[in-house]
Amino acid sequence: QKAEWAKLLHEPSVTADGRQVELAANIGNPQDAVQALESGAEGIGLFRTEFLYMGRNNFPSEEEQFEAYKAVAVTMGERGVVIRTLDIGGDKELPYLELPKELNPFLGYRAIRLCLDQTDLFKTQLRALLRASAFGNIKIMYPMIATLAELRKANSILEEVKAELRDQNIAFNEKLEVGIMIEIPAAAMVADLLAKEVDFFSIGTNDLIQYTMAADRMNEQVSYLYQPFNPAVLRLIHQVIEAAHKEGKWVGMCGEMAGEELAIPILLGLGLDEFSMSASSILRARSLLKQLEYNKMEAVSKYVLTLGTAEEIRDYIQQEVLNRL
Ligand code: PEP
Ligand code: MG
Repeated sequence: QKAEWAKLLHEPSVTADGRQVELAANIGNPQDAVQALESGAEGIGLFRTEFLYMGRNNFPSEEEQFEAYKAVAVTMGERGVVIRTLDIGGDKELPYLELPKELNPFLGYRAIRLCLDQTDLFKTQLRALLRASAFGNIKIMYPMIATLAELRKANSILEEVKAELRDQNIAFNEKLEVGIMIEIPAAAMVADLLAKEVDFFSIGTNDLIQYTMAADRMNEQVSYLYQPFNPAVLRLIHQVIEAAHKEGKWVGMCGEMAGEELAIPILLGLGLDEFSMSASSILRARSLLKQLEYNKMEAVSKYVLTLGTAEEIRDYIQQEVLNRL
């Protein structure tokens, strides 16, 4: 099977009936991009930038960040590289950033919330990202957006930084795409409004499931609720994809769900445009897509949205789709 998959290394990701999607990789540092290419990635769907900030005693400089972002952009060439702005807080702490102790860190001061408050920190990262955008196909993505107001605030800071760079005659990609993660149910509910003011969405199911089900993603005792196939989660995903497509925007997914064999037929049928996963899952996913028919999966996903439990949905996909390949 591995040998079969290897043949797909430089093939497009296309279904049996000709629908093409993008299979991208999630990475955590610039070296991972090399591995992603060798694993058949057509782009980077999520570059988590926390690594730059962690395991040290001070904030990374603009120059350090610029070098890291540029390295990935150069490695990937024309392929898209979605770089997520700082997603610190929650369970991820920085020794040099004093944050108030919180009762519910996952519902607290983190990610874009922190960046919109500590704008110096945010601007430094945006400057580095914009400068690096002159060297490849970088796209910027904000994590943990809950409201349209937050998106607008982040974009206005981005515009300020762009204006500074223009004044200083520093090059950046004027057509750089800006998107957001959809990982909070509130954002999914107003996806139609958000879609008008972004270039793309990427659905972060790791958090979207946690917040939708009110079930901690690390807590074994409630893992029965932490289920990607829960009808509530699938309906939100469906709604987000529809809302984006109505505005002519593309939608990816960068949560673990995007690489799951049982999920891929449903996500394909719902119209997902980009699947971002760990590099090691890409060829297997490409092989699966090759055997699926988009037309049939559209009908399958429509049916699946009428089912009442995660278990029924999993069983249906296993028996009616995967076992028949
Ligand atoms: C997600 O929430 O799905 C996601 C991709 O982000 P992280 O796992 O880094 O929270
Ligand atoms: Mg997340």
